[in-house]
Amino acid sequence: MNSFSKLGVQESVVKAIGRIGWDEPTPVQAAAIPVGLTGKDILVQAQTGTGKTGTFGSIILSRIGSGYNTPSALIITPTRELAIQVSEELTKMAFYSGHRCMAIYGGVSIDRQASELKKGTDIVVGTPGRLKDLLEKKALRISKVAVAVLDEADRMLDMGFAKDLDYILHWLPKKRQNMMFSATMPDEVKNLALNKMKDPEELLVSKDEIVLDLIDQRYMIADKDMKKDALCTIFDKERKKTIVFMKMKHRCTQLGRKMKNTGYNVDILHGDIAQARRERVIKDFKDDKIDILIATDVAARGLDIDDVGLVINYDMTDPETYVHRIGRTGRAGKKGIAYTFVLDADEERSLRKIARINNVEIMKTEMELVHHEANRNLHPEDDKKGQKKPLSKEEERGRKEREKREKEKKEKKKGHPESFTTIVIDIGTVSDVSKRDIVEFIQISAGIKHTSIGTIDMKKSYTYAQIDSAYVDRVCASLSKYDFEGKPITAKKLTQEKE
Ligand code: AMP
Repeated sequence: MNSFSKLGVQESVVKAIGRIGWDEPTPVQAAAIPVGLTGKDILVQAQTGTGKTGTFGSIILSRIGSGYNTPSALIITPTRELAIQVSEELTKMAFYSGHRCMAIYGGVSIDRQASELKKGTDIVVGTPGRLKDLLEKKALRISKVAVAVLDEADRMLDMGFAKDLDYILHWLPKKRQNMMFSATMPDEVKNLALNKMKDPEELLVSKDEIVLDLIDQRYMIADKDMKKDALCTIFDKERKKTIVFMKMKHRCTQLGRKMKNTGYNVDILHGDIAQARRERVIKDFKDDKIDILIATDVAARGLDIDDVGLVINYDMTDPETYVHRIGRTGRAGKKGIAYTFVLDADEERSLRKIARINNVEIMKTEMELVHHEANRNLHPEDDKKGQKKPLSKEEERGRKEREKREKEKKEKKKGHPESFTTIVIDIGTVSDVSKRDIVEFIQISAGIKHTSIGTIDMKKSYTYAQIDSAYVDRVCASLSKYDFEGKPITAKKLTQEKE
């Protein structure tokens, strides 16, 4: 008998699990599935990467029927990425049982989701805001839900979704099974469980057991100016699929641009990037079209990418986020490496504390950094670092003069490009892309400043963008290297007057 069958999972689901290739249940699956299958409420402390989707997926698919019009199971997740990921995994698990699953999230057309819901689904996976909107529109009915899951409950409360959750849970039938998963168990999560669940069975999967043992954790002292070279040096040495974590969205964009200019195959993920593009970035990263993903914590939360070999904490963080970040590697039994850059003795002390809390060793590492020159001379601060030989006083004066002149020239040029040329890009409002996304995309792909971009005029299926004539060829060539929604992007100079 297969080990998932022994836990009581329905045969059709066991068969699908075999097709996915899971041989043995993970510790959280072994502990939680048998209890969940009795219909009891469960409160599970487990992080992403432990097999929690497989846990509630096995329980739901074994307990509910398929083919009804209104959903029998509802899963609430904090982020759109997680909703999509959970829905994809459940769809695979339902390969033989035939349950239909639908992901619902903001940033895309609500009417399209409403009409999809009309066609009927067995399971809905959604983010709180959009679920609430659809309930208010009466496009989503959850009165027949028999199993409700709150995934990453701590994160949802952190993100301020308490009121939305209250609203959604209010519409659920009283008689239902509740499952709550949370990486941490602060009082807020416990209170939520106390108020919304019936005498839940608490299950804890200890942090150490999860993934940390599989991760080789290191740190290095790197001041602000050294971090990019440190990242390049480590990546060149390890050559593994890499996620770089940063706190701030704008720094994420800046680093993305610098790394691109240095010739690395990178992309970025943060909350201000349009949904359609985020999905494409995640897909590209999964498909190995991107080597390095530079992401903020929220955007990367819950990303299910198995073969990340290297995680870089570009900025220091708190103990819980640290575990979440490095837990992106060392998944599904594979080994991983995590580096943390610490700025000074204070940050080093904080990191030692993190090591103590998690009962792990984080080794100090020193390495000779290789300076990585940017290909394009757009960022003078990158170039300065390359000068190793000390200059004579005369040379130094000359250099300063040159820099001053260069700076003045650039300052002059900054606000007033001599002329603009209009280009047409075949991405429009229909793809849920904003003007800001377009500007950012042009900046990142071509490595130019926003001051080199003039007016953006978006139409339904294409966009006119004014580009500093000095950079227009570079912009067209750079954009044309990208795909959007599965098609190569076309970006051309406008040859006739626009209407
Ligand atoms: P999750 O905790 O749901 O984010 O799952 C983490 C990863 O582990 C996903 O890629 C799953 O496909 C994978 N996974 C889940 N259960 C198992 C299992 N029993 N054996 C191997 N891999 C699994």
